[in-house]
Amino acid sequence: MRITMIGTGYVGLVSGTCFSDFGHEVICVDKDATKIARLEAGIMPIYEPGLDALVESNVRAGRLSFTTDLAPAVAAADVVFIAVGTPSRRGDGHADLSYVFAATREIAAAISGPTVVVTKSTVPVGTGDEVERIIREVAPNARAWAVSNPEFLREGAAIEDFKRPDRIVVGTDDEIARAMMGEVYRPLSLSQAPLLFTGRRTSELIKYAANAFLATKIGFINEMADLCEMVGADVKDVSRGIGLDNRIGSKFLHAGPGYGGSCFPKDTLALLKTAEDFQSPVRIVEAVVQANDARKRAMGRKVIKAMGGDARGATITLLGLTFKPNTDDMRDAPSLAIVQALQDAGAHVRAYDPEGMDQARALLPDVEFAADPYAAAEGADALVIATEWDAFRALDLQRIAMLLARPLLVDLRNIYPAAEVERAGLAYHGVGRPQHE
Ligand code: NAD
Repeated sequence: MRITMIGTGYVGLVSGTCFSDFGHEVICVDKDATKIARLEAGIMPIYEPGLDALVESNVRAGRLSFTTDLAPAVAAADVVFIAVGTPSRRGDGHADLSYVFAATREIAAAISGPTVVVTKSTVPVGTGDEVERIIREVAPNARAWAVSNPEFLREGAAIEDFKRPDRIVVGTDDEIARAMMGEVYRPLSLSQAPLLFTGRRTSELIKYAANAFLATKIGFINEMADLCEMVGADVKDVSRGIGLDNRIGSKFLHAGPGYGGSCFPKDTLALLKTAEDFQSPVRIVEAVVQANDARKRAMGRKVIKAMGGDARGATITLLGLTFKPNTDDMRDAPSLAIVQALQDAGAHVRAYDPEGMDQARALLPDVEFAADPYAAAEGADALVIATEWDAFRALDLQRIAMLLARPLLVDLRNIYPAAEVERAGLAYHGVGRPQHE
């Protein structure tokens, strides 16, 4: 199949590359000429494990190419995917669909033969109807079908997720479009991924329902963590105790500083807006959004409390800045609110992140960046683990204790057993765990 991907960001680049690895002929298009030039030179615009090698081998095999020129790439395609951004619209929190609709207009003007136009971007219910309307308006004679196919990959494990998905959701009522999408995903039938065909609106809602449900799990365990701190219980054991129940499941039950990233915050907000528009309240999701917003800054206050209530003039080190490990994505990372809260309290913030520092520098101009965790700890009054990178899981705690001016570890990801940290001579504060004074 000849596939063209419009938007070569996380989703477009990973899915385009994986489709080419399945044997399809793929052209990835982006408006950003620098990004395309760098990709042509073999330089990845994002950090994603395994991506550079996969891009290189498929480019070499002649199945994957990059361009800024949308029209010929669309004209040559059987299937065109829209994978442009759908950020929160400034001011009201609705999904900003301007990139999707602009891309649709360009695609419609360039379509030549029969073409399936697939929205892979996360878009609110009804967007596919508008995509179809735009195509009919711009190209009334085109043989084209507008299909929804939301993407569920996770940054940091994106290739594995794309190649071995739990399910593939395709929203269309049209038999031809359905058959074409079956062809696109046929290579995945080997991994036995269920291909779930639904109506287009249903497919659009599935993506938001999935993200809202996962955000709810995180929000739920975070509130349990707060309760654990009040009643002297351990949230890690609570997670395990409930997660072993198959009806609940153990994933997404790790207490921490709140969810962030490029998807959960904007998608939960967009779902609230859809619910509002249709006067069908989603009160559970509303509560999750509110609790999560408040939580990020509260984590700054938690650090200050662990320091005895005063951070003015202190140096506080953050290990990990990205919203999760194995990505350089800083979008809506909890670290941003934590740093702000600490700086507002008069602290000097120093930080280290294995991959995120280039992105973070632009967002955190008053933070001092260190070359490694130990340089970051030197002379600091507290060490805070904000993201659970593997590189922080086996720190030399005795060395850390010696380097710090005050021996205090605030582990916002609960990656260390309290006793081990305390043996190294550090005071330990986790999330939702009993405090051994
Ligand atoms: P991104 O911002 O990394 O990439 C979007 C790309 O689209 C940019 O490179 C931009 O230059 C390009 N673009 C915009 N308009 C264009 C046009 N008219 N023609 C060509 N290129 C254009 O975004 P992303 O993180 O890949 O997300 C894309 C969509 O996928 C969003 O709707 C997002 O919610 C969804 N999604 C993201 C993830 C994730 O983990 N990042 C996972 C699942 C779904």
